Amino acid sequence: MKDITHIRADFPILKTKVYGKPLVYFDNGATTQKPQCVIDTVSDVFTSYNANIHRGIHSLSDKASEEYEKAREKVRSFINAGKREEIVFTSGATSSINAVAFSFGERFIENGDEIIISHLEHHANIVPWQMMCERRGAKLKVIPINDNGEIILGEYYKLLSFKTKLVAIAQVSNALGIILPVKEIIEAAHSANVPVLVDGAQGVQHGVTDVCAFDCDFYVFSGHKIYGPTGIGVLYGKEKWLAELPPYQGGGDMVENVTFEKTTYNELPFKFEAGTMNFPGAIGLGTALDYLLSLGRENIAAREKELLDYATNRLSGIEGLHIYGGSPFKISTISFLLNNIHQYDTGMILDKLGIAVRTGTHCAQPVMDRFGIDGTVRASMCFYNTIEEIEYLGTGIEKVISMFS
Ligand code: PMP
Repeated sequence: MKDITHIRADFPILKTKVYGKPLVYFDNGATTQKPQCVIDTVSDVFTSYNANIHRGIHSLSDKASEEYEKAREKVRSFINAGKREEIVFTSGATSSINAVAFSFGERFIENGDEIIISHLEHHANIVPWQMMCERRGAKLKVIPINDNGEIILGEYYKLLSFKTKLVAIAQVSNALGIILPVKEIIEAAHSANVPVLVDGAQGVQHGVTDVCAFDCDFYVFSGHKIYGPTGIGVLYGKEKWLAELPPYQGGGDMVENVTFEKTTYNELPFKFEAGTMNFPGAIGLGTALDYLLSLGRENIAAREKELLDYATNRLSGIEGLHIYGGSPFKISTISFLLNNIHQYDTGMILDKLGIAVRTGTHCAQPVMDRFGIDGTVRASMCFYNTIEEIEYLGTGIEKVISMFS
């Protein structure tokens, strides 16, 4: 892997100062920073070949369409999907989940059916299912978690029944950084003939994700959390499902033939891509994936493990600091609270030191409720962070404690 100085040089924002201090960016779970190559790609689209895709026969439109479809192929290959028809571009993980919740609900869900999610889910993987359940008269069942924040598989197996029509789970919890036993969850669901949606928003950027090895039925993620642009996301669906599901939005490009009497839909994946898509975003996402491949995904995972181990050790040595999610199966995220100090105060003081952390419920209120707290401080690290930055965070936290003592 490239050395850290060169990696950091790829991300222009990392030179920023906050309150006169060098930026220490530990909010990668919320969104990641962009390497120069991604910024250049998006700029190049607008500078050199901006034209609506799949519409014109003129050269610019051809070029934009070609680059957009190349990006689809890059996504397919990155997550090892079988076919490009199985890759749908959306505006993000949230819209991908909503798309499945709507279309799957319309097609397959009836009164009394059940959907299983876990207690660790982000609101984006809770609310769309609640809305679907309300619309279709179905019930939401929740896999509980233990005191370490790990889901209790035994309870999941008990929830699975002939009423279960879909399981939707995160690959990694955004609030605690815990990796879920996705493979076991999918195997059990499939042995009951139940399809599984995996929310990969916090998983896809931390190593190798292979949707064929998972054998998941749907997989979703957001471009902005994997070093790509905002407003672009991915919905992977096995062809057999996507072919069966009705489109969730109507409009240009998703149709084959339109008359006032009857409209027929375009082939996959275009059936699910109504209107002008975010093609600069998709093309930029393609460049982000190329960038990660050039670093090596195993290298990224190894480096992030090093950062996690160092940070866990450093922070757990601070008296009065409590880490939530003590599981050994984690990505490089640490969620914590300081005794008698509100997370907003901690976050605000750290910000004055140039350290960006996330505070609050992390859009996972049920996780906070489970632990009887109203939020945490979350430091989410990635491969461009350094041991020195973790040390600086440790010293910053000690400063917060001393200010309140
Ligand atoms: N799922 C998880 C696990 C997440 O962390 C997030 C974003 N925090 C989402 C879904 C939603 O992603 P987006 O807001 O990019 O649609």
